[in-house]
Amino acid sequence: MIRRLSPVALAAALVVLTPRAGSAQSAPTDDAVLKRIWALGMDSSQTMRLSQVLFDSIGPRLTGTPNAKGANDWLVRTYQGWGIDARNEQWGKWRSWRRGYSHIDLVAPRVRSLEGTMLGFSPGTGGKDVTAATIILPRFADSTEFVKWLPTARGKFVLVSAPQPTCRPREDWDSNATAASKARMDSLRAQVTREWGGRNVRGTGYSLAIGTGELGLRLEDGGVAGVITSRPKNGWGTIEIFSTYNRKAPAIALSCEDYGLLFRLTENNEGPKLRLNLDAQFLGDQPVFNTIATIRGSEKPDEYVLLSAHFDSWDGSSGATDNGTGTITMLEAMRILSLAYPHPKRTILVGHWLGEEEGLVGSRAFSEDHPEIVKGLQAQFNQDNGTGRIVRMGGGGLVNGAEHIKVWLAKLPDELQKQVQFSGPGFPSGGGSDDASFACYGAPAFGLGALGWDYGNYTWHTNRDTYDKIVFDDLKSNATLTAMLAYLASEDPTMITRERVDLAALAAERAAQAPAGAGRGRNPPTTWPTCSKAPRITEPRLK
Ligand SMILES: [Zn+2]
Repeated sequence: MIRRLSPVALAAALVVLTPRAGSAQSAPTDDAVLKRIWALGMDSSQTMRLSQVLFDSIGPRLTGTPNAKGANDWLVRTYQGWGIDARNEQWGKWRSWRRGYSHIDLVAPRVRSLEGTMLGFSPGTGGKDVTAATIILPRFADSTEFVKWLPTARGKFVLVSAPQPTCRPREDWDSNATAASKARMDSLRAQVTREWGGRNVRGTGYSLAIGTGELGLRLEDGGVAGVITSRPKNGWGTIEIFSTYNRKAPAIALSCEDYGLLFRLTENNEGPKLRLNLDAQFLGDQPVFNTIATIRGSEKPDEYVLLSAHFDSWDGSSGATDNGTGTITMLEAMRILSLAYPHPKRTILVGHWLGEEEGLVGSRAFSEDHPEIVKGLQAQFNQDNGTGRIVRMGGGGLVNGAEHIKVWLAKLPDELQKQVQFSGPGFPSGGGSDDASFACYGAPAFGLGALGWDYGNYTWHTNRDTYDKIVFDDLKSNATLTAMLAYLASEDPTMITRERVDLAALAAERAAQAPAGAGRGRNPPTTWPTCSKAPRITEPRLK
């Protein structure tokens, strides 16, 4: 039975469901526009409504798919509904594919429906059941041995991923295991990595790249029934799901648990049989687009403040925090700006890029196609590291950039000032996200660094990146902060000059200050990153 609420009860329910209004500031700013931005962003946020439609109804946005194009069209309609100019701008053609259902069942020695799905761009089974036995990819002395073995795998599902000795996260072992059993587990994990890791997967000479890579192609040439993979994260129930270049043999990703089950059954000769029924369709090469929305500058239309977040996602789930939340931050910031600051001094535009996951392709294409925007760029604000509140900002490697940001941050309401740590001139983005596509020209490109919320273990490129992971209080705050930064950058009396920090000196200074043994993470660049050309057609990632 569906219980219907009376209008009064419904209103009461909405009051409870809606995050509390009236988030009072501790030290209100006296700037009328900032006050209005705060009120719009914190007290009448649209982030929940927009997120629900985008992540639940539209879903993932894998570059090249009809779903991504549908999402582009939704963005344009949404902007136009607010009276903001918006358009889809084609930057190339990309392989296209439609994801249908994935039914994956263990049918022997017992029946169990397995937790898994096709990799992106996997061939389907043509609407039919395909039932076959499984085989584990052995360890080969060399690729000749692999070629000799291949006929053995014909007609079978090949398990190509490492069997995890445990599906519990590391923290669980750290806090619960005895010292001796933790040591044993650590050494088991290390052994599995040694035996299954690397590019020369198990001695075949071929890599799985980020899905099935060249090895997948060799296996399908050898007539296998399918390729079974699993890339568990260090978390409960999360796996990464990327893509395949196979054209005949389907490739699926299984949960850590179900992959382990299948592996042990196979290893112990217990006669496992797997039945796949996968619906998928290759759609050839199709046009791909960035969505661009613009509020034209009234005094300096040829100078630009660029809001930026990639719009594409992997498609193992909804791409809610990678990079749905960056998308909603920029979308909502534009809505707020169109109301609180409809006649900006400089042109404010937003880039919702496609192809980021394929190598920042959409944003690189845009910076190539719009040298006038790179030249007139006052500031780019890019967000792409999860749902958390923005807590870090740097000057993107520009001395003068840092000076301007300091001034902007000092004008923010107290809460936001306390929240955002300013790290000085910092470094130019080296390629992690779309700010790199502008930083490489020496333009002022700033990353808005968010708090983690266990992004890496739970939502980044996983099967669990869904609406429910969004932290709406943080998202509201991010949209409000971004709108404020865009306003302040637009109003700034002077343009940011392009004088670069001395990267080599800065790196040496950091190294000298770093505590002993703190070698973790990527080393900062010692020379300015160079721009690389955007491929306008699919660039396969096989190695
Ligand atoms: Zn991302």
